[in-house]
Amino acid sequence: MSGAAEAGIRVPLDELRGMAANVLLSRGLSPGHTEAVVDAMAAAQRDECHSHGFHQLPGAVELIRLGKIDRGAVPAIDDRTPSLLRVDARFGYSLLGFRTGAPLLAEKAAKTGVAVMTINNCYHFSALWPEVEALTDRGLVALVMTQGVNCVAPEGGRRPTFGTNPIAFGWPRPGGPPFVFDFATSVIARSDIEMHRLAGKPIPPEWAVDDHGEPTTDPAAALKGALRTFGGHKGSALSAMIELLTGPMIGDLLSADSIAVDGGAALAPLHGEFILALDPDVFLGPERAVHFERAERFFEAIAAQGARLPSQRRYEARRRTLESGEVSIPSRLYERIRALEASGE
Ligand code: NDP
Repeated sequence: MSGAAEAGIRVPLDELRGMAANVLLSRGLSPGHTEAVVDAMAAAQRDECHSHGFHQLPGAVELIRLGKIDRGAVPAIDDRTPSLLRVDARFGYSLLGFRTGAPLLAEKAAKTGVAVMTINNCYHFSALWPEVEALTDRGLVALVMTQGVNCVAPEGGRRPTFGTNPIAFGWPRPGGPPFVFDFATSVIARSDIEMHRLAGKPIPPEWAVDDHGEPTTDPAAALKGALRTFGGHKGSALSAMIELLTGPMIGDLLSADSIAVDGGAALAPLHGEFILALDPDVFLGPERAVHFERAERFFEAIAAQGARLPSQRRYEARRRTLESGEVSIPSRLYERIRALEASGE
């Protein structure tokens, strides 16, 4: 560990990775799950996506302590059709389910051009972009979605009906990192409203509705009502689609069912995940290179206007981390992880 900064301390990423692995292994999480979960947290910390970095570790420990997650769950693959595989995560983390199924998903996409992997009975707490990047690294175009905590109303409504429902898309780019976007369909995270309540600050009216369905600037009223989706009716329809594709379409829970199963704890909802992979080699054959070059001109036209591409901030953070080998972490979180490591099970 070196150099204290105002917001926290700088720590070698590998040190944090080792500490987090010790914490999870000592609590009986299987080596496979531990590796998948630690890799996801380390990737987020590396890319300065702090809310999905090691900040998630105490929550993961709590999930294990409460006995919610099956610590040794071994995902089962159901090789359903030439273009569909279903992975049963068996009440473990989605991340190991994804790792288990991804090679077969890529194999299917290479044969048919289009393949879908669904993951059922899983706990998902990470960002989606690591999974998207795992597919773009294989040269695939990818679309991934899952549910989040049920706290979002449909446009014009007033009751939590959707999760925060993230969606992510990835496009492999020759000679550089992929084009990736990854966002929740809620306009903001629920924790941001809670932070405004604690600080006694009003929230923008587009963030939430009260329990009469009226836009509100009062964070306490918002917490009794629901968050809004981004983009009004458009985000609302997108979020509904995610509920359908990750719930009824794959025989899994809707986010409202999920939070009921969870007794309202909202610690880590149990639900499904939907992953679509497209293989451009099958779509385009030898013309792939030409058309992917056209895509490059398109990205250049975006950047030429001074607009940034999604994930550019992450890639810049990643470059900095890989150069230094260190990440920033709040000192309180670092001490918490040390204490979790020392206490074991
Ligand atoms: P953000 O609003 O922070 O970012 C959304 C996307 O937009 C990112 O790809 C980001 O790239 C990009 N972006 C941001 N600003 C710009 C800009 N000015 N120009 C171009 N692109 C931009 O995302 P959210 O807060 O909605 O979601 C954060 C994360 O939370 C996601 O990774 C999501 O998967 C995750 N999540 C997970 C849930 C789960 O249950 N598993 C539930 C809800 C969310 P960049 O990263 O480079 O800034």
